[in-house]
Amino acid sequence: RKRVLKISTGSKQFDAILGGGFATMSISEVFGEFRCGKTQLSHTMSVIAQLPKDLGGAEGKVAFIDTEGTFRPERITQIAERFGLDPEQTLENITYARAVNSEHQMELLNKVAEYFVNNEYRLLIIDSIMALFRVDYVGRGELNERQQKLNQFLSKLTHVAEEFNVAVFMTNQVQSDPGASALFAGADGRKPVGGHILAHASATRILLRKGRGEERVAKIQDSPDMPEKEATYIITNGGIND
Ligand code: ATP
Ligand code: MG
Repeated sequence: RKRVLKISTGSKQFDAILGGGFATMSISEVFGEFRCGKTQLSHTMSVIAQLPKDLGGAEGKVAFIDTEGTFRPERITQIAERFGLDPEQTLENITYARAVNSEHQMELLNKVAEYFVNNEYRLLIIDSIMALFRVDYVGRGELNERQQKLNQFLSKLTHVAEEFNVAVFMTNQVQSDPGASALFAGADGRKPVGGHILAHASATRILLRKGRGEERVAKIQDSPDMPEKEATYIITNGGIND
């Protein structure tokens, strides 16, 4: 029988507002402005997912779909060392795929989903979900088609999460002109891109922002079972930490 597992973020405070971490069998989304730590969190989770369950891990392999070319194996090495894991082995357990356009992003998802059948994958990362869709579909006239394709991608993600007991973790950008849709804006007027289709697919949505000095702040925007709390975290050589 499948049981929901929680994968730690690397920060105890951040984990606390999530009830332990990001859950398998569902889709979670972190969104926020540049340099708030979305990619660093993706790297950190890619390592922690491999740890034993009593250390916040899920004892599983990881698939990483990179749409922005910002995956850095050196960061994985550094984070693995923090947790006392063998860096080589840790990297080997991460199936890395670089998507070059939105169609390719879908192809890669279908491909990694095949790996899930016979292997114990517990985490699938999409960093970032909308970047290529926004490049491939420009302007109002293409919005309908974009949302249709996005919907197909998200349906597949939902299926994969439930079928294989995988935590789907995706990063997302914020709209550059928050004033334009203030009606739907989250805290501080920052609104994730992707519209209602993405909002509906993400079970858990977290806003990330810069805090004081080196501090970063995570705030729950949407959760099936946790209140709208905030936590602070920092980015270190060893990944996300308190
Ligand atoms: P974008 O929207 O541009 O993709 P992001 O939210 O993905 O941004 P990240 O790349 O995760 O942002 O975070 C960048 C931040 O992480 C920078 O402030 C950088 O200084 C910090 N950072 C990166 N590597 C380290 C490290 N080894 N030690 C400490 N901080 C680091
Ligand atoms: Mg990034």
